Amino acid sequence: MLTVNAIAATSATDPLVRTTIERRDLGPRDVLIEIRYAGICHSDIHTVRGEWGEIAYPQTVGHEIVGRVTAIGPDVTRHAVDDRVGVGCMVNSCRECDNCRAGQEQYCLNGNVGTYTSVDRDGTVTQGGYSTHIVVDEDFVVRVPQSIPYEKAAPLLCAGITTYSPLAHWKAGPGRKVAVVGLGGLGHMAVKLAAAMGAEVTVLSQTLSKKDDGLTFGAAHYYATADPATFELLRNTFDLIINTVSAPIDMAAYLGLLRLDGTLVSVGAPPQPLPVPVFALFANRRTFAGSSIGGIAETQEMLDFCAERGIAPDVEVITADQVNEAYERVLTSDVRYRFVIDIETLR
Ligand SMILES: [Zn+2]
Ligand SMILES: [Zn+2]
Repeated sequence: MLTVNAIAATSATDPLVRTTIERRDLGPRDVLIEIRYAGICHSDIHTVRGEWGEIAYPQTVGHEIVGRVTAIGPDVTRHAVDDRVGVGCMVNSCRECDNCRAGQEQYCLNGNVGTYTSVDRDGTVTQGGYSTHIVVDEDFVVRVPQSIPYEKAAPLLCAGITTYSPLAHWKAGPGRKVAVVGLGGLGHMAVKLAAAMGAEVTVLSQTLSKKDDGLTFGAAHYYATADPATFELLRNTFDLIINTVSAPIDMAAYLGLLRLDGTLVSVGAPPQPLPVPVFALFANRRTFAGSSIGGIAETQEMLDFCAERGIAPDVEVITADQVNEAYERVLTSDVRYRFVIDIETLR
């Protein structure tokens, strides 16, 4: 066992604290990663506060992890010492079910092993990336291209792939009109990626306060959803809407924005069920869909796409001691556009 420095939640209500956690001994196919940066995802906050169900404490979260390989097991072939690598939202899956065989490990029919709060193969509870090191099976470790700085690569492992996967699946590209609802951590990546894919991108945000940023990220249009005229003006317009907001939305109003065969995909998850008026789906043969992260091969494809197109998230780098303050700021959407913890400050 390796004892490493970490930041952990000790209850649903207390601030996160510095502590140590154990990492398993390197197995034959394991990679030891010295973590350099870890992104702060809204899911981390929901999880430690018990909002997505009870968890065992202490718990270290973080599933936007980048760093350097410092040791490999004897059977590792995909990674080498000193490689720049990343780990996202999952660290294992069954590898045998239809979905795993199709490269869709995120939809593993036997349940993938999440990077934190999941039960690992050895029966321990997985601990996330707010720590100095992590041990991960090589198949769930991706390469981080040289041209993407570590701190900017981190948010790609969740915010990046969560938006890339539905954009790729529903074919955002030239001639397609894509709307992104919400300009936060996920939304700003969705705008950059959809624009790079060649789509005509519209941001739908509550107010126009981030309009300049949205246009800089590649959006062609920007509308305030607080203004009811927006929904009249944009009726029957979009081929694809990516909803990144985790608060309930007026489904009839948003579905009404889809043109023939358009799809509204939710990647944000409100805690309560969303009432979907079926008549709004009849018109224009509309689809309402969900999407969860992406497979490992697709995550690598996304990182390579970002490197090739020079795309990266906008980040605010913080120290290990600023995590609690950062959580409060995430909850008030006061971040441009993702917090990333400099793990050097945890050593
Ligand atoms: Zn996440
Ligand atoms: Zn599986």
